[in-house]
Amino acid sequence: MPLPPRLVVVSGPSGVGKGTLVNKVIAAHPEVVHSVSCTTRAPRPGERDGIDYHFVDDETFRGLVSSGALLEWAKVHGASYGTPEEQVETVLAEGHPIILEIDVQGGIAIREKRPDALLIFIEPPSMEELARRLKARGTETPLEIERRLANAKGEMEMAPLYDVRILNDGADRAAEELARCIAQA
Ligand code: 5GP
Repeated sequence: MPLPPRLVVVSGPSGVGKGTLVNKVIAAHPEVVHSVSCTTRAPRPGERDGIDYHFVDDETFRGLVSSGALLEWAKVHGASYGTPEEQVETVLAEGHPIILEIDVQGGIAIREKRPDALLIFIEPPSMEELARRLKARGTETPLEIERRLANAKGEMEMAPLYDVRILNDGADRAAEELARCIAQA
């Protein structure tokens, strides 16, 4: 059964495995679309423009904000990130669910703008495990890892504002729970 058209926000601290869970849901339910955000951060090795993110410069980002093209936007870890509204509206109008993998500031903004959205927070088994995963990922410098771990504490405090909290104690189990939540929505 295809999953229903629903605006779904997935948040959680950096390194918790949001991307892995979302990719697993999409592999099992190809009708689900992953929203492609705009960001001013530099691409990591292997990231593709227009697929992982729309990589833009500061001036372009400011233009998107002032023209109202973004459904929400926020500064995260020193860079700007935002959700283009057009993709969200198109996917929902076509009858498919769309997942926004965004930070807690973005999640709260969506809650206000779109009360019908489903907000899901992914939690790590522990802060120690989160630090271990972030280091094992190897995509950030030690300084960036420190920054992301410091931010993680503030993000975890926002978890009670979300509709559902999913513990990522195993990617397959957690991805199935995520898909179940979207199906029930
Ligand atoms: P990363 O640089 O690791 O790809 O993402 C850093 C953080 O920015 C993650 O928490 C990610 O969920 C968040 N993020 C990505 N895109 C958006 C967006 O469009 N809006 C907001 N508010 N946060 C985003």
